[in-house]
Amino acid sequence: MTRIAVLTSGGDAPGMNAAIRAVVRTAIGRNWEAYGVEHGYSGLIQGNIRQMGTRDVGEIMQRGGTVLGSARCPEFQTEAGRAKAIANLQALGIEGLVAIGGNGTQTGSNALSEMGFPVMGVASTIDNDLYGSDITIGVDTALNIALEAIDRLKVTASSHHRGFLVEVMGRNCGYLALMAGIAGGAEAVVIPEHDLEPEAVADVIRQSYERGKPHAIVVVAEGARYNAERLNRYFDEHKERLGFDLRTTVLGYVQRGGAPTYADRMLGTRLGSGAVDALAAGRSGLLVGMRKNEITLTPLEEVVAGKKPLDESILRIAGILAQ
Ligand code: ATP
Repeated sequence: MTRIAVLTSGGDAPGMNAAIRAVVRTAIGRNWEAYGVEHGYSGLIQGNIRQMGTRDVGEIMQRGGTVLGSARCPEFQTEAGRAKAIANLQALGIEGLVAIGGNGTQTGSNALSEMGFPVMGVASTIDNDLYGSDITIGVDTALNIALEAIDRLKVTASSHHRGFLVEVMGRNCGYLALMAGIAGGAEAVVIPEHDLEPEAVADVIRQSYERGKPHAIVVVAEGARYNAERLNRYFDEHKERLGFDLRTTVLGYVQRGGAPTYADRMLGTRLGSGAVDALAAGRSGLLVGMRKNEITLTPLEEVVAGKKPLDESILRIAGILAQ
């Protein structure tokens, strides 16, 4: 193998740039040529592929987002779309692809691999819902942004004796909400894996005030059955009876945009570099992830079929420490 390409796809995640940089420089370090694909699978189908040198990836590690751009590309879900992508890669003599992204991206890279093209996936999504990696690129930065918001809201909540709902991202996975809730000292966490009814949330808030707490912060996952919007509506409708109202902050895309933390820069670097090393060793059809602080390679078909469970012991800690 002497020529490879790299792309980022799905939701952007802080640390993707560190991974791109590592892929490009590790490849060039092996005297290979490195190519960057713009806007994920959509650029692959349209042939937006350009050669990248070591200087093209200078000054990018500290930037959030992805310098290659990302896109959602329904055409890649068709065999004809993927065949076009493979033809574009082969026309440039590219023999391997590194696909940096989350669940959807790795479903795509598995489909490409099943058509015979050598692919390595790199685990990257702020949701941390990807099987095959304990932690994924972007999670640490997203959590730190959520924590900063929670810390600030606690200050204002204490001053005004108000309850606050903070909704964090994570699609159908409660990981971000749970971890931000624990590290932020929230009074309750509402996540898809452990849904709380609005009356239970009201009880937690009431009990917090009865115990003399100056604030009540509830962290809600966007994918929870009662997300911030639905909880808010319920609290509004029952304001008189409940005796208090809640202020809501939805962090949304703010959570994605931060400068990557040390942890995400290192994770992106190690996984990106690991992907090139694996291609050099003749491996493909695998996800490069991190388990127990070691680089691991998991077959993409397992990644796509697998579901990452939430650690129940951490959920228990959340309940105990919120007292
Ligand atoms: P995040 O979870 O951070 O948003 P993601 O990688 O899961 O990242 P998606 O938008 O779900 O993001 O997927 C990214 C892209 O992967 C899609 O736009 C599509 O091009 C490709 N993809 C998704 N599902 C499939 C599939 N079943 N077959 C082929 N390609 C797919």
